[in-house]
Amino acid sequence: MQDGDFLQQVAQRRTFAIISHPDAGKTTITEKLLLLGSAISVAGSVKGKKGPHATSDWMSMEQERGISVTSSVMQFPYHDRIVNLLDTPGHEDFSEDTYRTLTAVDSALMVIDGAKGVEDRTIKLMNVCRLRDTPIISFVNKLDRPTRDPIELLDEIEEVLGIAAAPVNWPMGMGEHFLGVYNLYTDTLHCFERGHNAVLPPDRRIQGLDSDEARQLLGDEYDDFVDEIELVKGASHEFELEKFLAGKLSPVFFGTALGNFGVREMLDNFVEWAPPPQGRGSNEREVAASERSFSGFVFKIQANMDPRHRDRIAFMRVCSGRYEKGMKMRHVRMAKDIKIADAVTFKAGERVLVEEAIAGDIIGLHNHGTIQIGDTFTDGEDLGFTGIPHFAPELFRRIRLRDPMKSKQLQKGLQQLSEEGSTQVFAPISSTDLIVGAVGQLQFDVVAYRLKDEYKVEAMYEPINVYTARWVYCDDERKLEEFRKKAADQLSIDGGGFLSYLAPTRVNLALMEERWPDIQFRATREH
Ligand code: GDP
Repeated sequence: MQDGDFLQQVAQRRTFAIISHPDAGKTTITEKLLLLGSAISVAGSVKGKKGPHATSDWMSMEQERGISVTSSVMQFPYHDRIVNLLDTPGHEDFSEDTYRTLTAVDSALMVIDGAKGVEDRTIKLMNVCRLRDTPIISFVNKLDRPTRDPIELLDEIEEVLGIAAAPVNWPMGMGEHFLGVYNLYTDTLHCFERGHNAVLPPDRRIQGLDSDEARQLLGDEYDDFVDEIELVKGASHEFELEKFLAGKLSPVFFGTALGNFGVREMLDNFVEWAPPPQGRGSNEREVAASERSFSGFVFKIQANMDPRHRDRIAFMRVCSGRYEKGMKMRHVRMAKDIKIADAVTFKAGERVLVEEAIAGDIIGLHNHGTIQIGDTFTDGEDLGFTGIPHFAPELFRRIRLRDPMKSKQLQKGLQQLSEEGSTQVFAPISSTDLIVGAVGQLQFDVVAYRLKDEYKVEAMYEPINVYTARWVYCDDERKLEEFRKKAADQLSIDGGGFLSYLAPTRVNLALMEERWPDIQFRATREH
């Protein structure tokens, strides 16, 4: 391949994830994006929430909970771009995977329910985006229903999320009277027509707010709307590409995912503005996506996606160069060269062999236990990508074995599950307990299920009085030793051998931080 071709292919890529609170409309908008990308022909055909078939126990467990386990990565062409959309589980299956997926994207789409505004899951995900200043586009959804005042919503985005909000278009009415959106930059009215939920919607536009057609469309509301637009233009931030790319400003679009409207208007701008694959920091140097030599890192491991292959799939973000079927790559941590001929991608829930992937793309590697979250693969260079953190769990359980003879299996199972990032394990320094931590309830249930199913360990998971975990760092050995003694009852060693403080309450954590100014209490730690 010519160098120019390769660079062009990299520059075409847009890799992003959707962040939202459950029920804001992530699934619906995903479907409409796929429809626009011609990846499906009728909305509703990809992501039935009940899932297509129960193909394994584990999957049926997910399905009982009404969780879709189909596509984790979706690729589709749009205009002259190649879009990679990564799924971030949004419901009870909220887990560390959700967080880590955000380390593998170059931008994010934030979906906000227009009636509810910014909700707490969105805030959490936004905080993760902030770690890398990921550019964020906002979509205010459900305009076909009564929503809150759009100006109030913009204020909330700015205040709660701490990011400037720049409306690109503005809703003309809402609920029953939703007429469409007006683009503040192109002076175009995009007209909403009901009844196109499942197929590509028509693209009816009126050029110029100061036109007869616009007057006709808005009718009695016309003058008020013109005033409102004046107000909005005067009072809100203007879109600036540079600030957006620096993660400081979010362009805001309005629409209705269910009504299949406003999504195209958003996507058209999104593919233009969102950054192409970005460079990544490593322990050696910054690796540019445009480099010819291959590199990538693993950000997620998914177990038993298909019971016919009793393996796990390691999801890798290609950071630079090109994956070609049959190529040799270096597993840096294992210091081993391996030939990979069976990397997969996912099309409507089915595994498909990948012939080729370019920087920015996501591929799945079969993992028989040797791949861990955070592992780097290269053309041969010894480097390790950084910035793939562990996130402090928010739910904790103490594990009690039903059969004490099984303690070896338990240790082994927990070690493996924590290495692949399915859970975090903490061993208190002053007791023989074992504590598992997760960020979502389903993450626990999956761990319990897998310990039983794969390691034959039956255990009880007792609630325990821990609010959160913090990784403890201190340059001063003496201070650290003093802290270790004083806080021994709350200290644990995590699965990676790192000292961590398990705080019983939020207040306790704040007190400790105040009392021990030389000790750092970190909410993330690198792999
Ligand atoms: P997710 O949990 O974020 O994936 O949300 P879903 O896409 O499953 O949507 C949650 C609910 O809101 C579903 O019942 C959708 O049909 C509904 N919904 C999504 N978008 C819209 C919209 O634009 N308007 C209306 N009225 N309902 C919507």
